[in-house]
Order: sequence, then structure tokens, then C-alpha cells
Amino acid sequence: MNGHIHGPSFDRVIDALRSVAVESTSQSGEWTKFHCPVPTHGKGRGDRNPSLGVKYDPRREKTIVTCFSRCDQDDVLGVAGLRVRDLFDRLPDRTPSTYRPLRQHPPAPSTPAPHRTSTAPADDLGEVTGPRRRVATYTYTTVGKDPVGQVIRYATPHEHGTAKDFSQRRWDPERQGWVAGGFAPVLYQAPIVAWAIAEGHPILVCEGEKDVDRATAAGYPATCNAAGAGKFRPEHAEQLRGASHVVIVADRDLPGFQHAAQVYDRLQGVARHIDVMHTASGKDLFDHLDAGHDINDLRLIRPDQLNFVRQDPARGGTGPRRPADMPHGDRTGWPGRQDLDWGLDR
Ligand SMILES: [Zn+2]
Repeated sequence: MNGHIHGPSFDRVIDALRSVAVESTSQSGEWTKFHCPVPTHGKGRGDRNPSLGVKYDPRREKTIVTCFSRCDQDDVLGVAGLRVRDLFDRLPDRTPSTYRPLRQHPPAPSTPAPHRTSTAPADDLGEVTGPRRRVATYTYTTVGKDPVGQVIRYATPHEHGTAKDFSQRRWDPERQGWVAGGFAPVLYQAPIVAWAIAEGHPILVCEGEKDVDRATAAGYPATCNAAGAGKFRPEHAEQLRGASHVVIVADRDLPGFQHAAQVYDRLQGVARHIDVMHTASGKDLFDHLDAGHDINDLRLIRPDQLNFVRQDPARGGTGPRRPADMPHGDRTGWPGRQDLDWGLDR
């Protein structure tokens, strides 16, 4: 980084590019240089040069991204998970008064900020009030810790909350770089999963990476699949083969219980003991732990209580009904399993 004054868009763009492209150690004038990460750069032969330049234009309060070998700006932004609006410190004049640059004037909220990202449809959130920002990057690896893919989480501030969305990219071993798109169905935190299976510790299966990170930080081996509810594939189940005890933590909404049923069904004959639980408070495990609850406060759901999300009557399915029919765990804790050894330090 050189000594010029930069706006927030510059940091955002540099941060995004650093995780998908190799930064050049030499600067040329105002330009910060990268090896261009676009897969088709140089007819697919890659960029030895480095050809990608980034600089800040203080007059227009925007960041300029240019591949000097003339890759499309859209392709460069796409690989880095950026949108055109991310190039601007502030949104163009179409949305005038609602957005103020974050660094200089953090908006004083008139109501308490929402505790977590809203899952409400974007149109309930009001106007966009700031740029979409990358807020987390979750790396999926093999059991041997080789990179496989990443899920990138974005947040876009709105008047009444924050919209979240995700993108994926896969590791290309040939190019030693990330390529936009989905990746092989490995479990999140695969090395921890393999270790917990080998050591006989229980494993939590959550719906998202945020829950998993919260759980492992609190000392509980945990995992999930990429892309959330409904995407737990037989390949994911296979990676749990031999687990002594899998605890599925259902998010407390219809997709959450449907997901839990899918995971439960796919783990039959794979894991020795499977429990389905839901949170004592909040929607997901993150909320539950954040509210000060312990893992032993999770509430046990009987497997037949998941029938309301199953469509197939042959499997006891009654089909989805009203949200009020959502199962409610009638007891907390683990019958006969009060002192589970989770293995991780805490
Ligand atoms: Zn290029």
C-alpha cells in the first residue's frame, strides 16, 4: 500500500483482491498491482506480469480496477466477489440522503441495531443504506487441511436491518488460486470431524458456518455443509461414518426442521447414535450460546416430531402445515448422557 489517501472503497477492493489474487511486491506509481485472477486472462495461461492495477481516485471518491491486458472489469469483480457499487465510497446520487460514508459519519441508530442479520425478505428491510461488504470467509478443507473451497458471507445494510448473502469459490490447485463457483461436497471443519470420529467425541451438525465457528470456539466439535438448508448430500453423510454420536441442531424455522430431517435420514446406518435438538432460545445455535445457554440446555426432539416436514406418508410424513405446528422439544439434556466428553478445550 502506498502513501496516498484512500477512501473506504479502496480498502474494500484491496481486501477482496488479496484473497483471490497474488499481490505484487513492487508498486508502479499510484497503482497497487496484482497478478490478474481472471481465469481466462492471457487465453487461460494466467498472468505473470502482474497486469491488474488498483488505484484510488479521490476526486470521484471511487476505486479504479483495471486489467492492463484488457480483461473485463466485470470478470475481475466477479472473481473477487465485488459489485460495481463496491468501487464507490458512497452510492451514486440515485440514493442520496440515506447513505453516509461509514468511516466519517457512523449513522446514529434511533432504534437498537438488530442483533443478527435479518432473514426477512429484502423488501421488508427498506432502502439500501450502504455498500455490500464481505463480513466473513469460511474455508473448507480436506481432512489433511488442503483447501477445497470457500463460502463468503456478505452484508448489505438497509434501513431496517441487514441483508445477508453468500458466494462460493473453489481452490484450483493448478493455478494455485481461487475460481468463482461451487466446490466438492466436503464438510466444514473436516479435520475436526475426522478427529472427533476417531476419538469418539460427539459432533454437532448445524445449518451454517457461523454456528459452527461459535460452537467450536466454545469447545464443541461441529460441522455443516456449504449452502445451508437442504444441501446435505450423501457425500456429506459419508464423512460422518463411524461417528459415535451426532447431534443435529435444527434452526427453528421450517427450512431448519426440513434440513434436520434430511440430515437425520441420511445419517441412518452411518452414525451410531443421532439426536435432533433445537435451541432453548433464539433461532440457531449461535443465538443459543450467545444468550448464555450451555450445550446441555438444548431441547431434544423426538424423531417422529420431524414427520411434519416429511412429504412421504410411507415415512410417516404429514407434509408441512402451519408454523405453529413446529415441534417443541419436551425435555432438555441428554437422557443418560449428561456428561458428554466433547474433547475440545474450553
Ligand atoms: Zn486480466
